[in-house]
Amino acid sequence: MVKPIIELKNITKRYDDGFTALENIDLVIEPGKFYSLLGPSGSGKTTILRIIAGFTDATEGEVIFEGKKINDLPANQRKVNTVFQNYALFPHMDVFDNVAFGLTLKKRPEKEIRERVLNALKVVQLPGYANREISELSGGQQQRVAIARAIVNEPKVLLLDEPLSALDMKLRKDMQYELRELQQRLKITFIFVTHDQEEALAMSDEIFVMNDGKALQSGTPVDIYDEPINHFVANFIGESNILPGKMIKDFEVEFVGKKFECADAGMRSGEKVEVVLRPEDLDITTPEQGKLVVTVDTQLFRGDHFEIVGYDEDGNEWLIHSTNPVKDGKKIGLTFEPEDIHVMRFGEKEEDF
Ligand code: ATP
Repeated sequence: MVKPIIELKNITKRYDDGFTALENIDLVIEPGKFYSLLGPSGSGKTTILRIIAGFTDATEGEVIFEGKKINDLPANQRKVNTVFQNYALFPHMDVFDNVAFGLTLKKRPEKEIRERVLNALKVVQLPGYANREISELSGGQQQRVAIARAIVNEPKVLLLDEPLSALDMKLRKDMQYELRELQQRLKITFIFVTHDQEEALAMSDEIFVMNDGKALQSGTPVDIYDEPINHFVANFIGESNILPGKMIKDFEVEFVGKKFECADAGMRSGEKVEVVLRPEDLDITTPEQGKLVVTVDTQLFRGDHFEIVGYDEDGNEWLIHSTNPVKDGKKIGLTFEPEDIHVMRFGEKEEDF
């Protein structure tokens, strides 16, 4: 196993007002990978970054960097750099001085500063921008300056707190590619905070899903998408149909009053479960051939597919992706493969993870 670069062991954070922002967080970060902390607003993502950066103390637990406990190490001595949501650039300085700021503060020789700053600007694809004013730059360019300012210090770990949230959709997508490409080129460990599940799925080697100060699940984007651990994760990551059910026996599960063959779920017979079916795994057929019959209620055109909402005979809502439109009010059959059924323990408590 690769030696972790950062470990959080049993971290709890209680703020002075008594509010518990993080509860028993364990995280293992390996060098050179792209990690995302993903969760809704208030789930504790920024608090984790601040604890790693040394801006906030953990109430309990250990922060370990390359095998050494660093809880008491001041922020400026940690080998991590942070890129903030609002970039925190100095508007009265030009690009060069912004990027040079940390090195100037450390009183590095002028020649070295010049070389390192120009190189960092090259890395973020802004060569020739050294003498531009910050106010002359687009949002995406400012974002790159902020990254150049962070990487000029050659940190081993770059912490990024929602760095793309201020950008419009198109630029945001471009920057996702650029950041991912940059991370792979520099081989710096990235810990990227986002509440945008698409962004996390697209960019990360590994995702930590958070809610209410707890880490619910960690894994590759594919693992988390295909095998969400509980209702919250299934609902938060991608779109899904989630239904209550019961395990009948190995490879057989009951939901919407019918029995279906499923893949191995590792559950006991008779156990209450929840079943996840992704909209893109549902195929439309005739009502006679369908495993389920659904009446189409409404649909939205999403560019590359239609998103269809329908109801089965028991009144359960179904979300289906289809390449073709289907008339409202039409009865359709739905088919799916046994392995498309993902079975989770019913009402799995977050505390169990
Ligand atoms: P967002 O995406 O909105 O930034 P987040 O997941 O990053 O959310 P945090 O900023 O880590 O969440 O905040 C977690 C919780 O801790 C929130 O409920 C927040 O109100 C609370 N919190 C943060 N800082 C303090 C503080 N100094 N005192 C008390 N509570 C705080």
